Amino acid sequence: MDYTLAHQELEKAGHDGLTAHELIDLKVTGGLTYNDFLVLPGFIDFPADIVPLDSKITRNITLKTPLMSSPMDTVTESEMAITLALLGGIGILHNNCTPDEQAAMVRKVKKYENGFITDPIVLSATHKIKDVLDIKHRLGFAGIPITDTGKVGGKVVGIVTNRDIQFREDIDTPVSEVMSTNVVTAHHGVTLAEANEILRTSKKGKLPIVDDNGSLVSLVARSDLLKNRDYPWASKHPVTKQLLVGAAIGTRPGDRGRLAKLVEAGLDVVVIDSSQGNSSFQIEMVKHIKETYKDKVDVIAGNVVTRDQAANLIAAGADGLRIGMGSGSICITQEVMAVGRPQGTAVYQVSQFARKFGVPTVADGGISNVGHIAKALSLGASSVMMGSLLAGTTESPGEYFFLEGKRLKKYRGMGSLDAMEKNDSDNSGSQARYFSESDKVKVAQGVTGAVVDKGSIKQFIPYLITGLQHSLQDMGVPGLPQLWEYVDSGKVRFERRSAAAQIEGGVHDLYQYEKRLYK
Ligand code: IMP
Repeated sequence: MDYTLAHQELEKAGHDGLTAHELIDLKVTGGLTYNDFLVLPGFIDFPADIVPLDSKITRNITLKTPLMSSPMDTVTESEMAITLALLGGIGILHNNCTPDEQAAMVRKVKKYENGFITDPIVLSATHKIKDVLDIKHRLGFAGIPITDTGKVGGKVVGIVTNRDIQFREDIDTPVSEVMSTNVVTAHHGVTLAEANEILRTSKKGKLPIVDDNGSLVSLVARSDLLKNRDYPWASKHPVTKQLLVGAAIGTRPGDRGRLAKLVEAGLDVVVIDSSQGNSSFQIEMVKHIKETYKDKVDVIAGNVVTRDQAANLIAAGADGLRIGMGSGSICITQEVMAVGRPQGTAVYQVSQFARKFGVPTVADGGISNVGHIAKALSLGASSVMMGSLLAGTTESPGEYFFLEGKRLKKYRGMGSLDAMEKNDSDNSGSQARYFSESDKVKVAQGVTGAVVDKGSIKQFIPYLITGLQHSLQDMGVPGLPQLWEYVDSGKVRFERRSAAAQIEGGVHDLYQYEKRLYK
């Protein structure tokens, strides 16, 4: 084939598609969102699995993946934050709870060490065999370290195991009479691989980890050996090596006290949670945070959908901006308030503007598949925030229940009456997000619903990551850090799609089908 001639003809004919700027031409189309357009394919000369996804979530924090969980009480508590950080993203803890409860969640994430149980069940020598039996009955294990205080931090004086209590009917006998006192321990600082090796060679079931004084710091369990995998992309603080965590706060004066507790617990990034971020309250809060905690926490302000809103928060000192108003799956803001913006346009307009000041943006809400993540990033966002996509996973708060044969978990908007009523008594609930704490009539901006069981994010996040790598590969972009360069230069090109094209782009014309997304 004569490539030279083909390329000469291409130059004459011009490239297919539109630049991002042409795509988001407000005069032509009005507001657009993710399903309204597609990215045209580029040239592939690299494998997908080496495509890096490093991205900034704030001025000072870069992650290995651009994935964030929403600060919602059916999405992010410590379990979600720990697991998401292990997989390369970051969890933002919700604030629909007391400041102490939220600070305890931060502490739990910061204390977490992969493979090490940092808050193990501990007893003292004066506890009875029946206490051990009770734990075995409730939690299914009986290997328990014994310390002089009966707590973590006390000196290890023994260990009791299943064998020590088996067939004993004298259940009131103190643990001191049955425990073994020659305990194999390892010193704090030991790596997980070393701890696993000690467990293997000593043939013990539990390995207490102790400090210089012989005080208990944590525990490694043999039963976890196979589960202990490596997380090379984990989001960690460069100095402390602890997992990174974010948390939401409101804009009221009382939130300053809340933030002080969160920072003391080790918080890395604070998200000011407001559905309309362009307020004097928020500007004051951003200034307060930058003055009080300058090098301690980064602040993501928002939410915004216009350059005007963004300008005020950037001027106040925001380290990141959260974009979205009315795009969330549980959201009725646009319907009730008549205010908001289609998310694709909002992401493009705000991100282009914020980039001039080196302020990264988070595309928040309306992400319902991998393609939406890729589109949000190609429109200029540095990361995406997901609510419904991460709700209904093993790591999201709440119990599963069955409805019409489907296994579900509750998922609700933080502006739903259900969520706003939760903390009425101390007024620290989510109502402040919607400026409605003093209203006599509460106007809902969200709904309560349920989502289908998605299993663990330990499988789901790797699917999102691999999917995103393939998406960039199809665009011909070798890595997320290069994406905007390709978009700005017009190398990555876009095209709008009609309503009929959208139907064509989904599954169609089948009598029935099963949609399995990954294996
Ligand atoms: P989703 O990923 O589409 O489910 O959207 C999640 C996002 O919706 C959150 O990160 C919030 O920005 C937003 N959100 C949470 N609760 C509400 C609500 O009650 N009304 C409107 N937006 C909400």
